[in-house]
Amino acid sequence: MSDNKFDVVVIGAGPAGYPAAIRAGQNKLKVACVDEWKNFDGTYAFGGTCLNAGCIPSKALLESSELFQRAKDEFGIHGIKLGDIKLDLAAMQKRRASIVKTMTNGILALFKANGVVGIQGHGRMLPGNKVVVTGPDGSERTLEAKSVVLASGSTPILLKTVPHDGQYIVDSWNALEFDAVPARLGVIGAGVIGLELGSVWRRLGSEVTVLEALAQFLPMVDQTIAKEAQRHFKKQGLDIKLGAKVLSAAAKGGAVDVVYADAQGEHTLQVDKLVVAVGRRPFTEGLLADGTGVKVDQRGFIEVDEHCRTNVPNVWAVGDVVRGPMLAHKGKEEGVMVADLIAGGFGEVNYKVIPSVIYTAPEIAWVGQTEEEVKAGGRPYKVGTFPFAASGRARAMEAGQGMAKIVSAKDDDEVLGVHVIGPLAGELIAEAVLAMEYSASTEDIQRTIHAHPTLSEAIHEAALAVDKKAIDGMNR
Ligand code: FAD
Ligand code: AMP
Repeated sequence: MSDNKFDVVVIGAGPAGYPAAIRAGQNKLKVACVDEWKNFDGTYAFGGTCLNAGCIPSKALLESSELFQRAKDEFGIHGIKLGDIKLDLAAMQKRRASIVKTMTNGILALFKANGVVGIQGHGRMLPGNKVVVTGPDGSERTLEAKSVVLASGSTPILLKTVPHDGQYIVDSWNALEFDAVPARLGVIGAGVIGLELGSVWRRLGSEVTVLEALAQFLPMVDQTIAKEAQRHFKKQGLDIKLGAKVLSAAAKGGAVDVVYADAQGEHTLQVDKLVVAVGRRPFTEGLLADGTGVKVDQRGFIEVDEHCRTNVPNVWAVGDVVRGPMLAHKGKEEGVMVADLIAGGFGEVNYKVIPSVIYTAPEIAWVGQTEEEVKAGGRPYKVGTFPFAASGRARAMEAGQGMAKIVSAKDDDEVLGVHVIGPLAGELIAEAVLAMEYSASTEDIQRTIHAHPTLSEAIHEAALAVDKKAIDGMNR
């Protein structure tokens, strides 16, 4: 095969595209992965939004800011006396950048180990499964592929009346790279990204106001958990205004005036920085040349079937650019499935069992249906909860807040949904994901031994509470 002929060409090296390329390499296919991501410092890097401007840098700052907060407010309770605690934001940001660099360089190493040809540049698909790559120096190279995988990801939604300038009115990426703590921070959107970024800067000292158009807080989350979360965020000083729709914003004189409307009428809020976190949209700009025939729906998503096949033979699409939750792990599984299917193997994604995590403190994680969804579906159900206040390990961690909740079917005991707000909820949910993947009954979890004292006992006790058999809890 010539240097430009491949079995598979993947466009996009985010968490959907790079795993597709790696698995294709493992399947002994000749594979190239093309990516155009460029960081603010001008360097190209594989890893897409997730590694460069999303999951990883946000988690680095959430960790650092939480430690800062705990050093100030919690260490004393443990009997640890510290002097004056000061923030060195430059060092915190340096650490964030260095984690990102290590991880994105890691992809290069993984590509090498799995025989993937990584190519930096813009990829444009032509009819007949060709991909023209425009390199950083403007040179063009045409790749021919038996199969093409489109993994171009997503980009932040910007509001026309809130003109993004990258300095005062910013997106989530800019908000991860602030070099000073804004005294007053506005966030539009109380979704996952808005709450995580709001938490980071609140902990580091900003006065944070979150403006959310919807009247309901976290509508996609089980409402017992959402209410508990709202209470904690309020206590932390996050001012979350619900039913507050932002109409416009304008930066002037080093500040931003934000106009929003709620039930009482129109108001103006002045902040030093305004983060627009109103969601993300699929990104397909410059991806498809005329005549490829690949169908894109009205909202901009590439249309695919349940196996991520587009309408064009041997063209596949995965990750944020297709339907389904915009989550890195969902894209990863789709990428792996597609690479296995291309190689003639088996591949499947169980869309019913995809965990979600909000990395606030307390952390929020869930899988399956909320109680509200089960109720609306009409299937008789039973519920068990267990509070972390009754968990010895959580208490020892000074983290006795929140709860685990399990919703199960009354008829056959199937676990329908697991919802956790509390310490390391994102780690705890993995057990529930595995249980649901194996169609576990509640009794299966009840009869599974959980080490003591661990946070995972909360899941065990919640499962017991479903049948009013909790030992350490009150069976609510
Ligand atoms: P992307 O990561 O967007 O990658 C697409 C890549 O394709 C990019 O590198 C892009 O430059 C490249 N590309 C696009 N078009 C072309 C082209 N024509 N030629 C060449 N290259 C191209 N998800 C989680 O699961 N957990 C989290 O904790 C989490 N936190 C987040 C925090 C923030 C602040 C943000 C913004 C997102 C977060 N997400 C999180 C979402 C997650 O980042 C996305 O779901 C994930 O990155 C989608 O992966 P992807 O591969 O589909 O797309
Ligand atoms: P997510 O899609 O989870 O990232 O969340 C984005 C949030 O932004 C949603 O809850 C939207 O309701 C909210 N949102 C969108 N537009 C506006 C607006 N103009 N003013 C306030 N909130 C908004």
